[in-house]
Amino acid sequence: MGIAPPRARAESGSFHADGTSVQFRRAADLMNLDPDIRRILSAASSESVFHFPVKMDDGHVEIFTGYRVQHNNVLGPYKGGLRFHPRVDLQLFRELAAWMTWKTAIADLPFGGAKGGICMDPSQYSPAELERITRRFVYALGDSIGPDHDIPAPDMNTNPQVMAWILDTYLTMVPPQQRLRSTHVVTGKPIGLGGCAGRDKATGQGVVITIENWARDRGFSLKGCSYTVQGFGNVGSWAARLMQPYEPVLRAVEDHTGAIRRTEGLDPFELTRWVEEHGGVTGFPGAEPIDHHAFLSTTADFFIPAALGGQITQSTAALLDVKLVVEAANGPTTFEGEEVLTERGITILPDILCNAGGVIVSYLEWLQSKRSEAWDLEEVEEKLRRKITRAYDRVRDTALSFGTDWRTAAYIVALSRLESVYKERGIFP
Ligand code: NAD
Repeated sequence: MGIAPPRARAESGSFHADGTSVQFRRAADLMNLDPDIRRILSAASSESVFHFPVKMDDGHVEIFTGYRVQHNNVLGPYKGGLRFHPRVDLQLFRELAAWMTWKTAIADLPFGGAKGGICMDPSQYSPAELERITRRFVYALGDSIGPDHDIPAPDMNTNPQVMAWILDTYLTMVPPQQRLRSTHVVTGKPIGLGGCAGRDKATGQGVVITIENWARDRGFSLKGCSYTVQGFGNVGSWAARLMQPYEPVLRAVEDHTGAIRRTEGLDPFELTRWVEEHGGVTGFPGAEPIDHHAFLSTTADFFIPAALGGQITQSTAALLDVKLVVEAANGPTTFEGEEVLTERGITILPDILCNAGGVIVSYLEWLQSKRSEAWDLEEVEEKLRRKITRAYDRVRDTALSFGTDWRTAAYIVALSRLESVYKERGIFP
């Protein structure tokens, strides 16, 4: 159909040679950001690339490349996930690390921004190999991570098990006296190791709360609404399951195995079970297989991209037949794609606002691990709702007062907070 299949990353031209995005520069211009602070925020504080050997099950050795980019820590320790994916590189992690800085600032968390991971396809390795690769990567990271310095979390293809290996490896590298007060070195841990109730669904839940806030503001009834989801992993499948109280119609879903559609609606609980058993949405009983073009053209109230970056481009944006794009993924819309959506009157709820639920609950987990506490699910959910709703209110009010779009407003909220902290602290020396 002439539409390129989904790609692994933005490559959108949205990023300038100095590492800042068009959106960053637009917001900085509009709010008249101090030029010195603009320069500081345009570059990452540190960028590490590691090449490390790991012995495979059959005895041969493979060399892996791992990354950690620490963008900014003026608001608190670096915070950001680890992604294991064959199509990652330093530039992608620069972009993702900067987004974490904006996201934590918008959510009013005492964290900075970082991101990292390993260039690999985890499906090609046995669990034992994956464990050794993860542990060797943590060893390479050494003291560049730490409970009050840089705190990793799950991202694409990493999960609580991977976080448990990271925790265990890190703790063996610190002196015994420090071990029990270092368990907040990582978030997204299994519950038994100090994980937080509700962390697994937190990002999807934040996405749904943001949709609820948007609907409430516009007097839009979510009851029986229709939507489509790209990516049915952690974020996409939880967002779909948590939408169920509204009895919505989930018209179409796409993942790395293909796309499916059912006009009367797909059951997200059954689909989650199917994906767990079969590795992808393809073949889900009762659903019609469709191609990428048909998936994007499906008519619905809103579209939730929850897979990779760079999916909504100039050409694919023209196909979307929705009122609202809810960016659950990081960077799903290119600058050119955004221009097309804006021209077509389609609202975008930006990633740095609506997928902040994960890092908000990571913060709650970090606090609990730091204080040796365990909160119940209700307490976590209430705090998540309050924090993400306040972030939503700040972004909405800023969009109104500056007369701008939601993404620019979200950047202005983040940059204003960072600017005021830099002005108070001053620049060393
Ligand atoms: P995941 O690994 O659990 O799921 C990823 C999903 O994307 C899978 O369903 C996979 O099949 C699909 N996918 C992969 N390649 C695809 C392709 N070419 N076309 C269509 N679908 C494809 O990952 P996740 O944790 O759900 O993360 C999804 C997105 O949300 C990422 O952009 C991630 O950075 C972002 N995010 C995640 C969290 C979190 O807490 N997990 C927090 C904030 C943002």
